[in-house]
Amino acid sequence: MMPAFSGDGPDTLPEPIIRERLRRLIDSGVLPPGGLGCLWEWTCHHQHACSGCGTAIIKGEIEVEVTTRSGVVLLLHVRCLELWAEETRPHARPLPERRRGLA
Ligand SMILES: [Zn+2]
Repeated sequence: MMPAFSGDGPDTLPEPIIRERLRRLIDSGVLPPGGLGCLWEWTCHHQHACSGCGTAIIKGEIEVEVTTRSGVVLLLHVRCLELWAEETRPHARPLPERRRGLA
């Protein structure tokens, strides 16, 4: 049986999967690398999907609203914001390409 959405809630994606999603969003330009404009943190009042990991932010959880410099509003779990920040820090990423051995 699959566990129902109860107790800890559906926000149980493993961290590597969240990081992979965030990297894809960064690469596709949805999440700007280091382009944060306004940032607000508060308690969520209605459940909705996280812009980062895609799972629900549940009523009562802390959520972060980010308005990027291009005017896009993103709503994220605090954890996803932290992972995003880590992923956009250059030293936190593996080297994007290994050119050694290429002609
Ligand atoms: Zn999230």
